[in-house]
Amino acid sequence: MNKIGIDLGGTKIEGILVDENYQNIVRKRVPTKQDNGYNSILESIKNLILQLIQESDEKVSIGICTPGSLSLDSGLIKNSNTQCLIGKDIQNDLKNILHYNVSIENDANCFALAEARLGAGKNSNLVFGVIMGTGVGGGIIINGKIHRGRTNIAGEWGHHCLHTEGNSCYCGKKGCVETYISGPALEKRWLQLSGLNQRLFDIIKNNANPNFINWKKKFLSDFGLSLANVIDIMDPDMIILGGGVSNIDFLYDEGKNAIYEKVFSDIVDTPIVKNELGDSAGVFGACLIS
Ligand SMILES: [Zn+2]
Repeated sequence: MNKIGIDLGGTKIEGILVDENYQNIVRKRVPTKQDNGYNSILESIKNLILQLIQESDEKVSIGICTPGSLSLDSGLIKNSNTQCLIGKDIQNDLKNILHYNVSIENDANCFALAEARLGAGKNSNLVFGVIMGTGVGGGIIINGKIHRGRTNIAGEWGHHCLHTEGNSCYCGKKGCVETYISGPALEKRWLQLSGLNQRLFDIIKNNANPNFINWKKKFLSDFGLSLANVIDIMDPDMIILGGGVSNIDFLYDEGKNAIYEKVFSDIVDTPIVKNELGDSAGVFGACLIS
């Protein structure tokens, strides 16, 4: 059976059709028209899936990767940065207009699954996949399967507390990882330190600025502590970084050292590696859950 994977992002919806060996057959994308509301997004996904089905010469299974997490009780989307999805039952709504079953999973779990099975984590039993982008999230993969936990929050690493009296987070708590090492959080701290309103990759290029050392030191310290906590609890075979922030090269040497310094062990050699699938992790993760 062929597989269709849809990655629902804030700006675009991407879809692929692959065969059972996950070889890429067809790839399509359309813009996410958030301003036109939820029904317009549903229509876009439906049309994309129907186009991909037409390209398939055999039956398909369908998976969708979505921002936000799914409430275990209701199946509804919560905590999504694509606001019009919050509180919606996208799985059943799609099923009703498509007349196909669809599987659905949040983007951090899809990322971790795709990397563990098809990307940087092949041959690793326990993989912790991290997304550091607009938000911060994570997914735990054990022997090729998503570990969801008792209430579906396993891997929600972006909201564990780094500093008890720290930055306020939208989730209502203080000091969450996301408020320190997401792209927007790093840009905000740079603005406070330097007075410059710059995007992350311009900040990295601005390393001669006298404020850069302080900015980077704090970044590495928070990055190190947050992932050292993960290693102390899970001792994964590999940690794979994804999202826009993962393109910063110093995370893989100085960042790795900052993690190792804080781990509760005299032996630490956890590989901290960059993703291999890039922006395609979402669509492949969606195929894998289909
Ligand atoms: Zn939070």
